[in-house]
Amino acid sequence: MTAGVVIIGAGQAGANAAMALRRQGHAGPIVLVGDEAHAPYERPPLSKEALLQPDQAKLALYTPEQFAEQRIALKLGVRATAIDSQASTVTLANGEVLVYDKLLLAIGAQPRRLPMLDALGDRAHALRTVEDAQRIKAQAQVGKRAILVGAGVIGLELASSLTDLGLQVDVVDPARRAMLRNAPELIGRFLQDTHEARDVRFHFGTGVRAAERSGDQVSLTLENGTQLQGDLLVYGIGVSVDDTLAKAAGLRTEQGAIVVDEHCRTSQPHIYAAGDAVLQIDADGQRRRIESWENANLQATAAVCGMLGQSLLAYPVPWFWTDQCGYNVQFAGDMAAPQWLLRGEPGRAPFVAFGLDDGAIVGAVTVNAGKDMRPAKELIARRARVDQATLCDPGIALRQLAKAS
Ligand code: FAD
Ligand code: NAP
Repeated sequence: MTAGVVIIGAGQAGANAAMALRRQGHAGPIVLVGDEAHAPYERPPLSKEALLQPDQAKLALYTPEQFAEQRIALKLGVRATAIDSQASTVTLANGEVLVYDKLLLAIGAQPRRLPMLDALGDRAHALRTVEDAQRIKAQAQVGKRAILVGAGVIGLELASSLTDLGLQVDVVDPARRAMLRNAPELIGRFLQDTHEARDVRFHFGTGVRAAERSGDQVSLTLENGTQLQGDLLVYGIGVSVDDTLAKAAGLRTEQGAIVVDEHCRTSQPHIYAAGDAVLQIDADGQRRRIESWENANLQATAAVCGMLGQSLLAYPVPWFWTDQCGYNVQFAGDMAAPQWLLRGEPGRAPFVAFGLDDGAIVGAVTVNAGKDMRPAKELIARRARVDQATLCDPGIALRQLAKAS
């Protein structure tokens, strides 16, 4: 039992932390423990390419050869069931005990469950894993009807993929519009209009009152009385973190999330955490709870810097993307900014929306305008103040504005 770094969770943050440890000079043992049977893979393609072109979807984060070259030991298909922070050990479900010098929890999150929909059996799905995507793909046949519960990122990306596959789609959400949590109103509206032009039917302001299964059909009664029939149903209503392991190990958690500082240190010495499972509270009290691919990668690196006593680069402006109906939409900064301005024509991509707070640029969304994202992030990072007519003039390159401001 040679101690080294043990990583629990072989997903986006865990696998990248393992690689970063080697890159940044850690020479000792690294063990990556994952309860999924697969080698670490990326989830973003699961709602997109894995449904549309499963043979071409690139999921694996690294090849088996890369893990071997970097002397990263993979223990897959086995769950970590206990942490003893006094003895610095991790117990696995198969009884194996691992000793650590440093421990990283990169355990991700799980779809929030709706028991009423789970009771529909194999025609109702959540989407988090390769197996979920395969089950959805198997039922997503041309001419079938799909009901999507939740108009967040999963709901909208699936609405796009399933209509591409020739299904009729209904989307249900008690909120008043699409992507209420993650996108400003004008982008939520743009996406809704785009989906509606492809015959997607939205049912906003109403939840699900009852769900039934009859043969291979599912039917929903909505709170407003609407009846929906489907051949399959997928729900994406947000995620929750299973904090059983962390709590039992004495780690501070808040609403399930593991609390860490900017170096991704938990409340216990030598134990770090990164990714979807984490609530980060900086020294100045700033709180970050971000569920994104980029955040998992950044926090993996931050945790490694913390473990190796290396200095930490400043966190960049938070960023994520979605691909829907042929549009690449990228989001940076504060999506709850009180004022939004449009650079370009409403609804006619490419265009950029800027979020302002008291005149300062604090957020941006690019639609089929990815090249504008870098200068937009620079403007956000500096909370730049730019004359509004200039900012909204697509004739003036954003790069120029970012340099000048
Ligand atoms: P995960 O990648 O979920 O990895 C955690 C791993 O730990 C899992 O394999 C889990 O099974 C394992 N685990 C948990 N507990 C234990 C235990 N006790 N023992 C062993 N293993 C354990 N983000 C974007 O920015 N853009 C996108 O377009 C995008 N698309 C997405 C599409 C889908 C369908 C989904 C589900 C997510 C998407 N995301 C996207 C979000 C992004 O994938 C996540 O934010 C990211 O995967 C989080 O990484 P993580 O390492 O924290 O968690
Ligand atoms: P999400 O984006 O938070 O959206 C969930 C949606 O479901 C919200 O609109 C929410 O409304 C709604 N909702 C909540 N309870 C509901 C209920 N009982 N019935 C119907 N709707 C309900 O979460 P998600 O789409 O489920 O995504 C899950 C995870 O995958 C997240 O971590 C997300 O970041 C990740 N993901 C990311 C991407 C991307 O970044 N492109 C793509 C796919 C998945 P309220 O806001 O009003 O609660």
